[in-house]
Amino acid sequence: MVRDVPATRLQGLGTTIFAEMSALALATGSVNLGQGFPDTDGPEEIAEAAVRAIRDGHNQYPPGPGIPDLRAAIAEHQERFYGLVLDPASEVVVTTGATEAVAAALLGLIDPGDEVIALEPFYDSYTAGIAMAGGRRVPVTLRAPDFRLDVDELRAAVTSRTRLLLLNSPHNPTGTVLNRSELQSIAELAVERDLVVVTDEVYEHLVFETEHVPLATLPGMAERTLSISSAGKTFSFTGWKVGWATGPAGLVRAVLMAKQFLTFVSGAPLQPAVATALRLPDSYFAELRTTLQGKRDRLVAGLREVGLDAFRPQGTYFVTADVRPLGYDDGVTFCRDLPRRCGVVAIPHQVFYDDVEAGRPLVRFAFCKRDEVLDEALRRLASLTPTGGH
Ligand code: PMP
Ligand code: GLN
Repeated sequence: MVRDVPATRLQGLGTTIFAEMSALALATGSVNLGQGFPDTDGPEEIAEAAVRAIRDGHNQYPPGPGIPDLRAAIAEHQERFYGLVLDPASEVVVTTGATEAVAAALLGLIDPGDEVIALEPFYDSYTAGIAMAGGRRVPVTLRAPDFRLDVDELRAAVTSRTRLLLLNSPHNPTGTVLNRSELQSIAELAVERDLVVVTDEVYEHLVFETEHVPLATLPGMAERTLSISSAGKTFSFTGWKVGWATGPAGLVRAVLMAKQFLTFVSGAPLQPAVATALRLPDSYFAELRTTLQGKRDRLVAGLREVGLDAFRPQGTYFVTADVRPLGYDDGVTFCRDLPRRCGVVAIPHQVFYDDVEAGRPLVRFAFCKRDEVLDEALRRLASLTPTGGH
């Protein structure tokens, strides 16, 4: 018998919930408000730039850290929006999505047994990335109903084995955007305990009625923060998988060392297109935000109307709802029943927690969909009546 069981460090990771729920949506003909991807592509001119790059012969291995023009465009973006000045040659690396940037940062910085503090609920690739690096995850939970960071809990989680803080703001799945006072406390703690911080900022441009403040802009943080983002959310090309990490040369070098043996380089013709995208005028970014804010409000109002206890997110394109008003006490059961009961797919929070109880009744709905798709999902959800007994 061939020994085909996965390595110990991968056991328990299962299939990602996003793949599972998208497959379920397809199999049942459900409206997919599960996996977060827009159902409308990004700007035509950016797609055209990628086509042009293929036709112009940008089809062989690009440089490992990314083509110089994209690295320059990433540095320009960080300066334009946040006043962060970076050396594109040593402080920027292009990756295959933010997923690779996170994995490479963990593989590049974590030794077996090191502790990584992450905000719970965690985006699922963090759990896997920490496990693959041999680290130990230490959760700090964002709790309903407001999902704010408990700074004392964070402080108490730091030990002599803490190697890094892995933060995500705007936060998937809760929609929390860390505010200046929370960031200030994190910065003070990181400086005091000499911690490296990795910040996943893929939803940096999807913030509503508030601002996104990169941790790297706070005093003392530029030298110890690796900031990660990607083109997927900002430009509605999630399938392109172009991401990046920026920060001090030493941290960027650690990412690059791991990256060169994970993917070596990232997709050549997409890189000039993403450089063009990053240089779009401010109006593009403002319009994206306005459009998504409208969709957020549409979905929150609709979910409340059908009886769900929906929380209004400050960022991302996800709404979290408590399913208890509909007679369920478990979000996993709710999400498994939903396609059959009314043809809608959502994501249960529970799978993103070590503290399963904290996430048990919560589910996540994505609103990066056409208005008519959101309306159809709401129309279907309206057929649900409280079930009792689940
Ligand atoms: N981090 C978070 C918080 C996400 O929600 C996602 C999902 N797109 C990613 C990272 C992965 O980004 P990418 O598709 O660029 O790898
Ligand atoms: N980030 C997206 C989400 O949270 C999906 C990415 C993925 O499928 N891994 O839904």
